[in-house]
Amino acid sequence: MTNARAGRLYVVATPIGNLGDLSVRARDTLQASNLIAAEDTRHTGALLKHFGIQTPLVSLHEHNELERAPELVSRMQNGAAISLVSDAGTPGISDPGFDLVRAAAAAGLDIIAIPGPCAALAALSIAGLPTDRFCFEGFLPARRAARRTRLTELAPEPRTLVFYESPHRVREMLEDCALGLGSARPAAVAREITKLHETLYRGSLSQLAARAAAEADFARGEIVVVAAGAAPDEDTGGGADGHGGALDRVLKPLLAELPLKQAAHLAAQIAAVGGNEAYKRALQLKQAYGAP
Ligand code: SAM
Repeated sequence: MTNARAGRLYVVATPIGNLGDLSVRARDTLQASNLIAAEDTRHTGALLKHFGIQTPLVSLHEHNELERAPELVSRMQNGAAISLVSDAGTPGISDPGFDLVRAAAAAGLDIIAIPGPCAALAALSIAGLPTDRFCFEGFLPARRAARRTRLTELAPEPRTLVFYESPHRVREMLEDCALGLGSARPAAVAREITKLHETLYRGSLSQLAARAAAEADFARGEIVVVAAGAAPDEDTGGGADGHGGALDRVLKPLLAELPLKQAAHLAAQIAAVGGNEAYKRALQLKQAYGAP
């Protein structure tokens, strides 16, 4: 066996579009493994066929991972070399894999990374935003109110933020980012990385939201959104509301859903602050972020 030793788990990254990105080491490992645990066996089957790899496949997806992990661990304990792959990119990164890795670690098995493509890191590396410290947020909540609450919580975060998003939600997601993180925040949207229609859009969050609304192609294909972190002097509501950000955290999502007066009234009750104060702050926020 060239590259896959018995009784080990190999966590193998696969291409996020361009098949040329499957590393030689990944190919050798997949070839030499006894079994490949794949998120979707048909999808990975096509990849293996392309590379002439005949290793058997077993499915490991979010609905069967917990129950299948012990069985795979026992096969590795009995000497099998197993590779773990997802549909694209690095397993475990907004993809199945964590439960199997955890079970293998608990059993004391060797776990070897075969690193390669990851859309989040690829987008970050070309976004032109600070890369020294960053925060991977994966997918934001699909429901708008929950997404806005999460973004309001993230507003004071100084590290660069990296999000995955599905194309049918990216327009409203960017609107919410402009509202929650600040419309002037520099950001980038990387679309279809490594593929034919690869495009990188740069601009402020409000400019990107406007482009997403105006250009049909913007919301086609796979997308990563990268947003700058809060600047040191940026007012993200952390102190400007006079309550350490607690009032803003409640007010912002309410303002997005309700008339100003009603939002201020509810926020005053939830954050336990005076009604006039909440109303004044609501007016300030509305002026700063515009009508949601
Ligand atoms: N494990 C994968 C990785 O390492 O990148 C991510 C899997 S996650 C289910 C899929 C999301 O990754 C997509 O919705 C999109 O946000 C992002 N993505 C994957 N491939 C991409 C590509 N070629 N270009 C841009 N974004 C991509």
